[in-house]
Amino acid sequence: LVDDECPADSQTLGRATWTFLHTMAAYYPERADAQQQATMRTLLTSFSQFYPCGRCAAHLREEMTVHPPAVATRTELSQWMCRTHNTVNVMLGKPQFDCKRVDERWRDGPSDGRCSWAQDVE
Ligand code: FAD
Repeated sequence: LVDDECPADSQTLGRATWTFLHTMAAYYPERADAQQQATMRTLLTSFSQFYPCGRCAAHLREEMTVHPPAVATRTELSQWMCRTHNTVNVMLGKPQFDCKRVDERWRDGPSDGRCSWAQDVE
């Protein structure tokens, strides 16, 4: 049920949050300086403390312990986010996403230009 007057459930929240996380990674600096890398690490650590789905946050914290966020470049962060999302997909029995297509999905859109209306993010 989609109703803008109802609080988000974990599905709606999840979709919106992945949109935010992948889009943020898609527009991260090509080469992040030390300060930007530290800020991104802090953001993700804080995020995993307060994400308002307890089991999701716990899973993310565990995942970040085993595979710390790769924050040196835009490509590394986008790929890390994709792999992290895929671990959740696997856990939930959803298909894995092809991480080679992450820029197409979250930044450039398909080459046929059908998403050109959507590119007002920056
Ligand atoms: P979503 O998984 O929300 O994906 C949205 C869109 O992202 C897809 O349509 C696809 O185009 C794209 N996409 C899919 N996979 C990738 C990828 N690997 N890389 C790039 N793009 C991709 N739910 C639970 O039930 N249990 C959990 O433990 C849990 N943990 C979560 C942890 C986090 C950090 C977040 C943000 C969400 C979590 N969720 C969890 C929610 C869950 O991941 C989904 O968001 C929710 O089930 C809705 O799924 P969906 O099929 O609509 O698509």
